[in-house]
Amino acid sequence: MPDLRVLIAASEAVPFAKTGGLADVAGSLNKALRRHGVDSRLVMPMYRTVRESFELNDTGIEFRVPMGMKEISASVYSYADSVYMIRADEFFDRDGLYGDALGEFEDNSLRYIFFCRAVLETARAIGFSPHVIHCNDWHTGLVPIYAKTLYRDVFPEMATLMSIHNMGYQGLFPAADMALTGLAMEWFTPSGIEFYGKLNMLKAGLIGADALGTVSVKYAREIATPEYGWGLEGVIRNRVADMHGIVNGIDYAEYDPMTDPAVPKTFGPRKMAGKRHCKMEMSTVCGFSVPDAPVACIVSRLSYQKGMDVFSGSVRGLVESGLNIAVLGSGEDKIEASMAEIAARYPGRFFFRRGYDERLSRLFYAGSDMIVIPSRYEPCGLTQMIAMRYGTVPVARSTGGLADTIEDYEPVKCTGTGFLFEELNASSLTCAIGRALCVYSDTKNWNALRDACMRRDFSWDASAGKYIELYETLRNRRQT
Ligand code: ADP
Repeated sequence: MPDLRVLIAASEAVPFAKTGGLADVAGSLNKALRRHGVDSRLVMPMYRTVRESFELNDTGIEFRVPMGMKEISASVYSYADSVYMIRADEFFDRDGLYGDALGEFEDNSLRYIFFCRAVLETARAIGFSPHVIHCNDWHTGLVPIYAKTLYRDVFPEMATLMSIHNMGYQGLFPAADMALTGLAMEWFTPSGIEFYGKLNMLKAGLIGADALGTVSVKYAREIATPEYGWGLEGVIRNRVADMHGIVNGIDYAEYDPMTDPAVPKTFGPRKMAGKRHCKMEMSTVCGFSVPDAPVACIVSRLSYQKGMDVFSGSVRGLVESGLNIAVLGSGEDKIEASMAEIAARYPGRFFFRRGYDERLSRLFYAGSDMIVIPSRYEPCGLTQMIAMRYGTVPVARSTGGLADTIEDYEPVKCTGTGFLFEELNASSLTCAIGRALCVYSDTKNWNALRDACMRRDFSWDASAGKYIELYETLRNRRQT
């Protein structure tokens, strides 16, 4: 792959700013590509939290982005040798990435239309001419169209890849915001970037990019159906030939129970004593009254997507079956309230911590026996992979990346890496956890299952290799 140059554009990336899996992917893919010799760079907004927590280098580069009648000034900061942050304080110097306690920011269209154009301005300003610009989710949806219109002469050979991390979030804004994009109105049609009278940023990426990607093979098929396509299934069906499902990896250096500083006692495949210590520590933190009972955790956004309503409906049966349950997450008010209410009903058996807490999440991954993931849909999902790395067995709905990364347990041959269920309802979930508890009661089988989970390879190497192949294909197509 001689001299392959890739620019990853994302609205969040670890270790700088994170609300979910997109950040893990953007940050770790950039690192993995560089390990494989690709000249990969990452560009993202400079949020307040980034400015406050990282020592960034001011490159001295400044530019202005036209937005309707106005021009917005921006400057570029860098971190190490491959990350660029776009500074525009009026948009990004706030608490929260996309919203605050009052809800989504009202000017999100302005903020991310600006970001899309600023990504290309940044590449031009730093003198980086990528073979492929890899866009991620709706926040970067206009980049492929800008690349083939306003910036075609600047980057004549650049190909564009649009990765869909979650079809449920599309960046839908009033038609009037079209004026901010600087694009000709002929783009605003049903076969263009209009979606029922609105501007749809994700759709812009889907019709504009040279190739599309999703973060698992099964999700690539699912989003071509009305159940998972969120109204864009027709657009996806038109582009099946350009669609690539590449399952995410996780950063093995970051998520390693042998070295994780957040884990009370480290452990690994042939050194499992530490995991029991972690379970006891977790039990103390959660105040479980029967510390030796099997423990199931949830680490998740508390949203409809994640099937938390179905989980709430199963809790009574699960607690009665002797399970300790710990939930870490934040999200929709109604679900948070329901979790708090359940915790009050089952003290000593059900623990709920509202919020985002990286350290506590590591304790849960390390100290639990199983993780429960009852998602309605799951483009890839990272928590099942992280959990398996920490010897925690997933019990999950068979959808998207969960189906691609978990092999259902087969009790006769004792093969598999978790427990999958098809129907999204309390009885299917309870039944899957029942199957897990049945294996748990046999220490030898459970330990073998745990080992099988830990032996699975979810490192980025395999996935990065697939991305490199795809980038190469796109580069060659452009150059011939
Ligand atoms: P999504 O991106 O849909 O939220 P993923 O499973 O792809 O779901 O990624 C979730 C990521 O966010 C994982 O790294 C998980 O550990 C982390 N995470 C989710 N909720 C929390 C939380 N409340 N505290 C700490 N980490 C969390």
